[in-house]
Amino acid sequence: MSIETAIDLSTGQPYPYQRVDLVEPDWTRFPGWSGVTAQDWASVQWQRAHCVKNTKQLRELLGDLVDDRFYDDLERDQNERATMSMLIPPQMMNTMVPHFSPGGAGSMTEEFYADPIRHYMIPVFSDRRTDWASHPHSTRDSLHEHDMWATEGLTHRYPTKVLAELLPTCPQYCGHCTRMDLVGNSTPVIDKLKFTGKPADRVGDMLDYLRRTPQVRDVVVSGGDVANMPWPRLEAFLTDLLEIENIRDIRLATKALIGLPQHWLQPEVVEGVTRVATLARARGVSIAMHTHTNHANSITPLVAEATRAMLDAGLRDVRNQGVLLNGVNADPNALLDLCFRLLDGAQIMPYYFYMCDMIPYSEHWRVSVADAQRLQHHIMGYLPGFATPRIVCDVPFVGKRWVHQLAEYDTERGISYWTKNYRTSIEATSEDAMSRTYEYYDPIHTLPAEGQQWWAEHGGLEQSALKAAEVALASRRLAALQAH
Ligand code: SF4
Repeated sequence: MSIETAIDLSTGQPYPYQRVDLVEPDWTRFPGWSGVTAQDWASVQWQRAHCVKNTKQLRELLGDLVDDRFYDDLERDQNERATMSMLIPPQMMNTMVPHFSPGGAGSMTEEFYADPIRHYMIPVFSDRRTDWASHPHSTRDSLHEHDMWATEGLTHRYPTKVLAELLPTCPQYCGHCTRMDLVGNSTPVIDKLKFTGKPADRVGDMLDYLRRTPQVRDVVVSGGDVANMPWPRLEAFLTDLLEIENIRDIRLATKALIGLPQHWLQPEVVEGVTRVATLARARGVSIAMHTHTNHANSITPLVAEATRAMLDAGLRDVRNQGVLLNGVNADPNALLDLCFRLLDGAQIMPYYFYMCDMIPYSEHWRVSVADAQRLQHHIMGYLPGFATPRIVCDVPFVGKRWVHQLAEYDTERGISYWTKNYRTSIEATSEDAMSRTYEYYDPIHTLPAEGQQWWAEHGGLEQSALKAAEVALASRRLAALQAH
């Protein structure tokens, strides 16, 4: 990929900033929603009941605006490649090809193929690479989150913070989901891991662990997506969390703010968030919402309204953690458009862009570390410093590292080497955890010919070595659990 930036003649700058008014695209342009009223659209029940879950439902919605070629392409992907099942709320569906005016049969096909949100929410077989569809080092749980579970669903990777996966579902499923191992329904390719504990027991175990682990001060309350947890249960968990003296930061992780803002606009939810935020403020705890959007087209007036409701309810901030994806946003202008749309239109703070993780069948989305570094360079200087997102690589067994922080980089084989300054929860006795390096791998198709040749010769062997390492890690984890 080359990241070129043309100069805008009117400003003389590579990026021509322009404030853009938010618009809710007209959903009646899709034949299946031609009679849907504004009242239906605002209803979270209507939205959830009309999610697109399979090719048949997509066809009923779009009809012959899209050629059979696309539906066949999608069906093949669902059967042979998809790591996530389909689930697209109408709100999110409506942000695809937002300016399309229906013409004749098949008239939307090419625009639909090219659409950035379609590209990550409805991946098709022809999107994926056929040379290296998966990197030899790709794994189902590429960040090894459940290797680091302190209790079921509670990942303790960093010294002072934990990730609480309360539930394994979301109101929408993103094709590139890093938690594809656990989140969503099984697909023909991926049989999902299932939590074994009862939800109440799991949550109780998490709270007990946090009570007896005073060095943890920060909890990301996630899933899945917390919007799928009935509000009274989520509020009860948050209230219990706020009673633990060592917890000083809480972040609620929900892409639904973008994909299903109707959820966060429900009066009972807004009232509940107000109660929790008031309690947090009284106890001197910061509570914020972290959302996930990857493209400017996702930011509509309803998203801005839901964000406003959350800020008015007393949350300290609403921040965005996007994912850097080819075909969606791996371009300086697309990233800056999104950041300005978030800031100007919705008062959402651009925070991180993660490099797409090394999960199976993700190579067509991933970019190299070198390209991520170039993108970071190109987006500097336009946004306020506090709102300039860091592009980060989530390095297996390390955690988030800014893309310029690597220790060494073999650009021929696309292997970057990273260090860390703490032990994860599975390395308490490791002597070299903080002196050794950890690898991250660029997509092979981005490498020079010599590097591609090297992988052609060694890719299979590397894969076996990786499997052996995974088995060794699983035994270590089992031994650690038995020792508890
Ligand atoms: S909302 Fe988050 S957890 Fe859910 S599918 Fe998308 S990326 Fe995965």
